[in-house]
Amino acid sequence: MHKSENYYYMEALVSRLLADDVDFIKVQEKYYRILAGISGEEKLHRVLADYHFKDDATILYNFECVNEKGFSHEIDAIVLTTRFLLIIEVKQISGTLFYKPLFHEFARLTEEGVLENFPNPFDQAFRHQLFLSHQLSKWSIQLPVLYIVVNANIRTKLDQSLNNSPIIHLSGMPLFLEKLYANHHETSVDLEHLKNKLKSLSCRLPPKMKVESHRLRKGVLCVKCQFQNVMYYHFGLWICSQCGEKNKDAIYLALHQYRILINDRITNRELREFVGIESKAVASKLLKRLKLKQLGSGRGVYYLIPDDILERRI
Ligand SMILES: [Zn+2]
Repeated sequence: MHKSENYYYMEALVSRLLADDVDFIKVQEKYYRILAGISGEEKLHRVLADYHFKDDATILYNFECVNEKGFSHEIDAIVLTTRFLLIIEVKQISGTLFYKPLFHEFARLTEEGVLENFPNPFDQAFRHQLFLSHQLSKWSIQLPVLYIVVNANIRTKLDQSLNNSPIIHLSGMPLFLEKLYANHHETSVDLEHLKNKLKSLSCRLPPKMKVESHRLRKGVLCVKCQFQNVMYYHFGLWICSQCGEKNKDAIYLALHQYRILINDRITNRELREFVGIESKAVASKLLKRLKLKQLGSGRGVYYLIPDDILERRI
């Protein structure tokens, strides 16, 4: 499944942010929330894969784009059929959910009894609906644009105050789709054309936060020790000083994280500082072995860390 730039950034940040950083807990919480969101999307994926769509249908997951006014849209899933376009907003919030429609106020009560307000998913989905309706009419495509909020956590309780709101548990998705099919007629919309229009609109949104490099831990971190310990370089091998793990390819993950958190280009000096190698010659040899593309000349030489660096592991 296609994951957002924000996910990759937070995944790298959570193992690199210094433990005494002011934002350490906040970053961990945000990362866990992103993981919960992904787990909800995966559940939706399974339910929709199992569902038998009547005619041609296409699903775009994690649709990201920027609108004409410069604001971003992140849509969990868009179901395209020749009868309707359905926006799906997946939620994975635990506890009991409440709604005050008059005020557009959405809240949850945790199992510990804490009541807190949440961003209103109906308003979020409605905003996507307005935007996509506007796009479709701009493209002269006539298709009803609908939305539904889907709760993917079976333990979540939906309070009666949500009775008249477009929210259902994920298990109700097949019946919900059947009803949409029953209530909407076939149109002559060219799905392939619509899909291509939407794809040309989509982009990768940048990470939502950016942390300065001095707040990050340096070093090649040991995966076996859950990134807690730093490995040192000794004759072509990375060795963990704590658990004794030895391998050649721990550097790839470190460079992947460097690329995501700091920069996709690195100089010999920056590499030595980041991974803790003292000798310039040793670092040069390592860079050669990693086959990173070398650019610039003389004192301005730097290397490009490719986006598939992790797949290059031996
Ligand atoms: Zn270790």
